[in-house]
Amino acid sequence: MAQPILHHRHAEFIALSKRINRHLQVLFCTEQPVLTLTSSGTGAAESAITSLFARGETGININNGKFAERWGKMMTIFGMNTVEVMIPWGHAVSEPDYEPLLVEALRAHPQAACVWLVHSETSTGTFTDIRRMAELIRTHSSALVCIDGITSVGAHECRTDEWGLDVVITGSQKGLMIPPGLSFIALSERAWKRVYDERADKIPSFYFSLAQARKEWESNSTPWTPAVTLFVGLDKALDMLVEEGIEHVWKRHELLAHGMRAGVQALGLELFSSSPSNAVTTVHLPPAGKHLVSLLKQKYSATVIGGQDSLKDKIFRISHLGFYDEGDMLALLGVLEHALHEIGQVIQPGSGVAAAQRAFMGVA
Ligand SMILES: *Cc1c(COP(=O)(O)O)cnc(C)c1O
Repeated sequence: MAQPILHHRHAEFIALSKRINRHLQVLFCTEQPVLTLTSSGTGAAESAITSLFARGETGININNGKFAERWGKMMTIFGMNTVEVMIPWGHAVSEPDYEPLLVEALRAHPQAACVWLVHSETSTGTFTDIRRMAELIRTHSSALVCIDGITSVGAHECRTDEWGLDVVITGSQKGLMIPPGLSFIALSERAWKRVYDERADKIPSFYFSLAQARKEWESNSTPWTPAVTLFVGLDKALDMLVEEGIEHVWKRHELLAHGMRAGVQALGLELFSSSPSNAVTTVHLPPAGKHLVSLLKQKYSATVIGGQDSLKDKIFRISHLGFYDEGDMLALLGVLEHALHEIGQVIQPGSGVAAAQRAFMGVA
């Protein structure tokens, strides 16, 4: 990425884009185009909403966290009729207690054009079983199944075609392991039909027009100047993911998450989510934990992050999304033990690390 800038209409860049486009289809498990947009992940959601839907159409939003909340706001801003299905933070609509709320919303709004679900809700560290939810939605409705896969693509199994997902989006700074600035979107065939229907009340878009992006994609190009430097990094990141094997990437995240959960629980801490994501582990802050996050950062150069909104000073979040292995998890748990001891939490030294090791090694 530190090399001289490529020109985006030159053969070298087109060849690089071609490789990227092929590899993105592997990552998304789809035969359909996966478009790369120069924007953060939110831009991909905007491209979907503006390219697919019309003013006054109904969109159901499964709202179980800070990111989920965003997609409801966005539909409303663009003149859609948003139906919010509120799920308490830390829970998923795919849990038995909450699934009836989705069915109820689908029955009450048979004309709904879409349902938005966040596969891995990063604000609460919650995983939603979108495979089952997609099936459920399709049996009750013709609404498009729209997935925020921003911290799931490249972490959790996500089979766009096989599971009948109509929109799947992600962003460069999450599972793709490169700096922020690119977003990605895959659409199903029936979603593409909507892109091309020319109803008069369609939400307008220009920069984020998926019809434009698709047209240029056919020749491995983009309608506007892309963030070429990020494409160079993306090419390498995708090489790494494809070389490791996408199924192995999912398994690695599962293992790291499993070890991290075992580790923090062995330290007497409590998980926040009842349906934990493999991308991020959310943990209740211990009573004296107000400065835990800053202590870890300042003294141990270990980055974890606190909660947002109502979860501020209530939880902290540990990432294992992307370029991580067992060693990273053990190092974090090691300094977490130190920091917990320093804030006066009684812990058994080595117990968090040992529990994670047992999980990684598969021994009792
Ligand atoms: C990071 C994140 C987003 C926001 O993406 P931006 O790149 O900031 O636009 C949306 N959804 C989830 C689940 C995320 O983790």
